[in-house]
Amino acid sequence: MPDYDLIVMGAGHNALVTAAYAARAGLKVGVFERRHLVGGAVSTEELVPGYRFDYGGSAHILIRMTPIVRELELTRHGLHYLEVDPMFHCSDGETPWFIHRDPARTIRELEEKFPGQGDAYGRFLDDWTPFARAVADLFNSAPGPLDLGKMVMRSGQGKDWNEQLPRILRPYGDVAREYFTDERVRAPLVWMAAQSGPPPSDPLSAPFLLWHPLYHEGGVARPKGGSGGLTKALRRAIEAEGGEVFTDAPVKEILVRDGQAQGIRLENGETYTARAVVSGTHVLTTAAALPDEYVPAAAKNVRVGNGFGMILRLALSEKVKYRHHTEPDSRVGLGLLVKNERQIMQGYGEYLAGQPTTDPPLVAMSFSAVDDSLAPPQGDVLWLWAQYYPFELASGSWETRTAEARENILRAFEHYAPGTRDTIVGELVQTPQWLHDHLGLHRGNVMHLEMSFDQMFSFRPWMKASQYRWPGIRGLYLTGASTHPGGGIMGASGRNAARVIVKDLTRRGWR
Ligand SMILES: Cc1cc2nc3c(=O)[nH]c(=O)nc-3n(C[C@H](O)[C@H](O)[C@H](O)COP(=O)(O)OP(=O)(O)OC[C@H]3O[C@@H](n4cnc5c(N)ncnc54)[C@H](O)[C@@H]3O)c2cc1C
Repeated sequence: MPDYDLIVMGAGHNALVTAAYAARAGLKVGVFERRHLVGGAVSTEELVPGYRFDYGGSAHILIRMTPIVRELELTRHGLHYLEVDPMFHCSDGETPWFIHRDPARTIRELEEKFPGQGDAYGRFLDDWTPFARAVADLFNSAPGPLDLGKMVMRSGQGKDWNEQLPRILRPYGDVAREYFTDERVRAPLVWMAAQSGPPPSDPLSAPFLLWHPLYHEGGVARPKGGSGGLTKALRRAIEAEGGEVFTDAPVKEILVRDGQAQGIRLENGETYTARAVVSGTHVLTTAAALPDEYVPAAAKNVRVGNGFGMILRLALSEKVKYRHHTEPDSRVGLGLLVKNERQIMQGYGEYLAGQPTTDPPLVAMSFSAVDDSLAPPQGDVLWLWAQYYPFELASGSWETRTAEARENILRAFEHYAPGTRDTIVGELVQTPQWLHDHLGLHRGNVMHLEMSFDQMFSFRPWMKASQYRWPGIRGLYLTGASTHPGGGIMGASGRNAARVIVKDLTRRGWR
């Protein structure tokens, strides 16, 4: 008898979702995680006394467009989502505005501040909400060769697809220019779309902006206690069904005999057997754990890119004070702090030349405004995500250039909130090198692989592996950001993979 029905390599949120569904379907599940805690890029710890920092993703948006929380009864297992509303505060430093969950309020306030732009926002939502919903549906199922066609057809609402298709294949910067004439409105929307990686000028990137209407549908949320509240609840859900979760348990090898996955060997030499193995690590980590003859060239040739963001996490003794923003609203949502579109392109240009951005646009997060467990009563957490930062630098190394990059992020933020640096009592600087070394995110790519069209849907991680099965090895499955629908806190890959595995391993199949 094997030790488990299903061994799960890695305990990122996607792998935990797969494990939880498999355990609920009656499979005996064992999860093995390299780090000292579960969650991977969705985990939280008290890193400065009194201050809890997320290690990775913070804004829970896409997972709320899936049925995962309900189906796995995660509320019963301790997950408590706090609404973040206003969802975004947008600012060039002089004229802030807010995106509320309620589109009507957003449109009204925009129209008051920037005449004509509220109407444009309303038109944008009307035009693209059907498309955004079609994309969310495609995320929640295994990818197929006709996905692009489905997206276009469902989004069309009677429009001619000959006209609709080129609109979807444009760069998202062009989409923004079609709707918004005022750069103070346009630039923050473009900056939010840039969070997936590709710059605003990339052809085929329009969907990164066109799914913006989804924010109004699902909202932005935070698990109480930090992002890791999600993965802690997933762990409890697995254990409640008899599953076992091991931390500090790095997998060294996936054991394969005669084309069949047999189990795993840990770094410490212990071996565990199973009917099947699913890996939720970066696909290059999975490949490295396999005998070389089972690793096709396509697996080695996936495009990871050269990093793209870094984050400065600060513990502050006082609350953040913005120069021009209305308190406390400005501290609640994601701060899309960008002077203009040129600032994004300049950062991207420096990145292409192998240099850390000198004046980065920022996403500022001070979620202690919605969750008092993150910081002492007088203080704040302040996390500043910035782009773009190469993993491989043209000169120097991350050891020698971290201080300069940190200083540039802080200086960029003080354009919006001067004096912040005087209130810093602790910090964590996460460079692309840090993300690679500590979270296993190869070359610092938080999405595992580049989110460009040639690596999305059926092309992720590569065509023959896109159905969550490793080609050429029976009983070896894939999940995680390296697979469809890619990076971000969503869990859809975990659920899609579970559906395949449960169908294969149980008589009852997926219900
Ligand atoms: C700084 C940062 C900010 C982000 N912000 C956001 C955000 O606000 N909103 C959003 O939606 N997304 C955000 N993201 C992206 C999102 O968090 C990730 O894309 C997503 O969490 C990836 O999850 P995953 O389960 O697919 O993989 P991962 O989280 O990468 O999980 C892989 C797991 O495998 C483990 N592992 C690796 N090697 C081994 C081994 N040999 N043996 C056993 N285990 C192993 C790792 O330790 C890890 O736990 C952010 C990411 C980062 C890093």
